[in-house]
Amino acid sequence: MLMTTPAGMALANTLRDMGIGNEKVLTVIAQTPRHLFVDEAFSHQAWENTALPIGQGQTISQPYIVARMTELLLEVEPQHVLEVGTGSGYQTTVLSQLVPSVCTIERIKSLKFQARRKFNRLDCHNVVTKHGDGWQGWPSKGPFDAIIVTAAASSVPDALLTQLKVGGRLVIPVGEQEQLLKVITREEHRLVSQTIEMVRFVPLINGELA
Ligand code: SAH
Repeated sequence: MLMTTPAGMALANTLRDMGIGNEKVLTVIAQTPRHLFVDEAFSHQAWENTALPIGQGQTISQPYIVARMTELLLEVEPQHVLEVGTGSGYQTTVLSQLVPSVCTIERIKSLKFQARRKFNRLDCHNVVTKHGDGWQGWPSKGPFDAIIVTAAASSVPDALLTQLKVGGRLVIPVGEQEQLLKVITREEHRLVSQTIEMVRFVPLINGELA
């Protein structure tokens, strides 16, 4: 059972002031122990609204962007969600408290294993993990009500669009130097794309695993 801490409440208040309106998301951010997900040397900064290193040259996103992407995804009330880029497992842990079923893929084996241990320790029993290339999605677990990509793609991967249910949405940062957070909703006969805001993510790698 996760508990809200004063540091968590303070972070939630900061995010509310920045425009995050979904109170369920703010409650979950306030009670998710972010210090368990960052490099130990940075744990004293874990409750600040900043991106931090998680090892292997990767970063945990700023809590504001985790909250923003999560609230965009929840707008379609998803039951079954795919996350591409498990990383530390922080975003996954946030999602696992808000949706019934979460599948998450990571291309760096050691990060995948470390994240799996945290999901067990925090009783996130609705999360399944995979070491694989998320550019291809996870066809055998799809289709999904929503897909969240937590690394920046040079273009929108087709495989992810085909694994979305009708009415489902993809939340994805797109671009290289300049990256834009996009929401792509699958309607019966078309895809509708919205641009949310500028963001900064590590790249989504297309190809070999590590
Ligand atoms: N959601 C994570 C963010 C981690 S950073 C968190 O909360 O900590 C993005 C992650 O995407 C990195 O761990 C990186 O290794 C992973 N990644 C990059 N390309 C990928 C790909 N093609 N498939 C799966 N994971 C990928």
